[in-house]
Amino acid sequence: MEPNTTTCKNCEQTHEVDFEFCPYCGQKTDVDLTFGVLFYNTISNYFSFDARFFKSFIPLMFKPGILAKRFIEGKRLLYLHPAQMYLFISVVFFFLFSIVTRESISKLDNLFEEGFKSEKISDTLQTKL
Ligand SMILES: [Zn+2]
Repeated sequence: MEPNTTTCKNCEQTHEVDFEFCPYCGQKTDVDLTFGVLFYNTISNYFSFDARFFKSFIPLMFKPGILAKRFIEGKRLLYLHPAQMYLFISVVFFFLFSIVTRESISKLDNLFEEGFKSEKISDTLQTKL
């Protein structure tokens, strides 16, 4: 092994120390496994948004069987992983749902509040009579 080389921990091939990624397998060369790195990788794996979303979303809307067929055939890197798609769409749905229902909920709260106030007034009137 030459002095300016290191061994990849994944594929065990030697490459230069200065490389940020292994030229053989693509794994990052500094793989310090800390809690922060683990948390970041988990979050970024599930919420990464790139061109694969549109390559998956459009066929999903018009020909949903194609995605399942391609996934089973093994053509998976071209499309977003189904779990990622589900998680991303769920987050977007609940975000939009909370915005849409906010006004209805505040109207309902006001109606309840008015109802409780009028009920208290009628209770006090009845006790006085
Ligand atoms: Zn490697």
